[in-house]
Amino acid sequence: MSSIPKRIRAQVWAEAGHRCEYCRTSSRLIGMPLIIDHIIPKSLGGSDERENLAASCYRCNEFKGGKNDDIDPETSQLVPLFNPRLQMWGEHFAWANNGSHIIGLTPTGRATVVALRLNNDYAVAARIMWISKDWHPPEV
Ligand SMILES: [Zn+2]
Repeated sequence: MSSIPKRIRAQVWAEAGHRCEYCRTSSRLIGMPLIIDHIIPKSLGGSDERENLAASCYRCNEFKGGKNDDIDPETSQLVPLFNPRLQMWGEHFAWANNGSHIIGLTPTGRATVVALRLNNDYAVAARIMWISKDWHPPEV
């Protein structure tokens, strides 16, 4: 059971517009509630404070796991993963192919795309369907 009070969880989701703060997927499109991600994982000492909490889909949270940094595929450097409390999505990521894919614009963006598998086959297939209905991509 989560130690995050229900009021705080509701605030995190509302402030994120009910979208995953990593892949931007709407909880309404996937028909599932988002979950609370610890940006710095608890296993690495991350706190339950608001500044360490983000709205995440299950998939992004699962792939992020206990990671706080990963390798930028372009420079092979270990870099911090995207922090939705400190960084702007649109500065680190962009939609490509009409919105079916997310590209990383920075070392952090590129490392996060790989680490969280933001372009995994299931996500891309869903986005292609949403694009055909004009439900996607969301504004950055
Ligand atoms: Zn996600």
